[in-house]
Amino acid sequence: MDFALSEQEKELFKRAKEFTREHITPKAHELEKRNEFPKEVVQKAYEAGLMNLHIPKEAGGPGLSLLAETLVSEATGYGCAGMATSIMCNNLAFAPLVIGATIEQLKEYVEPLITGKDAKFGAFCLTERKAGSDAAAVATRAERDGDEYVINGVKCWITSAPVASLFTVFASTQPELKHKGLSVFMVPKSKAVKIGVIENKVGQLNSIQSEVIFDDVRVPKECLVGKEGEGFKIAMKTLDKTRAGIAAIATGVAQRALDEAGKFANVRHQFGQPIGRFQGIGFKLADMGARTEAARLLTRQAAWLADRDLPNSKVSSFAKFFASDAAMQNAIEAVQIMGGYGYIKEYPAEKLMRDAKLLQIYEGTNEVQRLVAGNAILKESVNLDTGYHVKYDGRDAPII
Ligand SMILES: Cc1cc2nc3c(=O)[nH]c(=O)nc-3n(C[C@H](O)[C@H](O)[C@H](O)COP(=O)(O)OP(=O)(O)OC[C@H]3O[C@@H](n4cnc5c(N)ncnc54)[C@H](O)[C@@H]3O)c2cc1C
Repeated sequence: MDFALSEQEKELFKRAKEFTREHITPKAHELEKRNEFPKEVVQKAYEAGLMNLHIPKEAGGPGLSLLAETLVSEATGYGCAGMATSIMCNNLAFAPLVIGATIEQLKEYVEPLITGKDAKFGAFCLTERKAGSDAAAVATRAERDGDEYVINGVKCWITSAPVASLFTVFASTQPELKHKGLSVFMVPKSKAVKIGVIENKVGQLNSIQSEVIFDDVRVPKECLVGKEGEGFKIAMKTLDKTRAGIAAIATGVAQRALDEAGKFANVRHQFGQPIGRFQGIGFKLADMGARTEAARLLTRQAAWLADRDLPNSKVSSFAKFFASDAAMQNAIEAVQIMGGYGYIKEYPAEKLMRDAKLLQIYEGTNEVQRLVAGNAILKESVNLDTGYHVKYDGRDAPII
């Protein structure tokens, strides 16, 4: 594995960092008070070429790698995780289409959204009130009626839904088959697609989530992505890819927490010296630094594997849970290192703590990531020959 970035990737990372410094970091706290989708900043990110990077060239996109996407997410996540979520929402919404749709479908439904003057948005609609981690429990129905499908159901927690033009919807075409009856549809915004309750969050306030109500929504049969029953497979393939994006935002948050805490520890004096000189603080900074570097390496490994179409389910789960745990731990430590200043809104640490928490929850909770990774490890180790066996009860058994 080669972690060296190409010249193009280096340039993109630099551009995304400069963008963050100019447009995100100085405004994030102020914009957060509005508690709404940060349209102007996202429009600027679109104009700066920081969005829709994975859409293939044949469908009007730049056709860049997942690694490239993670660089943008890390850089923007450093400035504000909520803003980074708003900028990367199209990555999640359009990934199932890049995976399962034909180039003709992408050209018709996605290209117009990514090539105009103004930024347009997609929304990934999987979660429902009773179907969170258990995606197979989706109750939204899509029924075939002649040359159309009729979609009915309610999704919740849908990022960027209130501003979206296209909804990627997971709905059941054959409920009796459970996850094997799930299909995925491209649903353009219409009167029958209604925005319900706006979710009232504690963090990542520079992103917006809402319910989406599909009320007898009719779409042509050509809006089916892949075949009927392929929805679950496409959802899992999507999350294998997009988890690296969340890990990248988390790496940005972990790095920011480290930088803010380090800066503070140099200038805050107690007992006649900078608090950074106390070994207890130095140890915290060392752990925060190691966690950040490890999170970055795992993130890049997950993206590197996905970009080569190599199995990456286990590593992308490692990256997601490790990096988001690192972000959370680093944010908590930053608050602690900053003492009372860490706990007030004028300083950046409390926002990092609120924002980081979500990274452990959305796009598959960290418990679910550990399930995925644990199952993968069990599968890999069942026939593993470590060269060290004993016979127990007529079978190979490990020595404990
Ligand atoms: C701000 C935000 C943005 C979101 N954006 C989107 C979006 O754009 N599109 C979308 O479709 N969804 C979105 N989601 C939904 C998100 O992916 C779900 O919240 C998440 O998958 C968890 O589902 P849940 O909240 O129903 O929790 P539950 O699944 O009910 O889980 C509750 C708890 O039980 C644990 N748990 C569940 N099953 C197991 C298990 N088998 N083993 C061990 N522990 C388990 C979980 O880890 C968690 O700790 C978003 C959520 C939030 C909060």
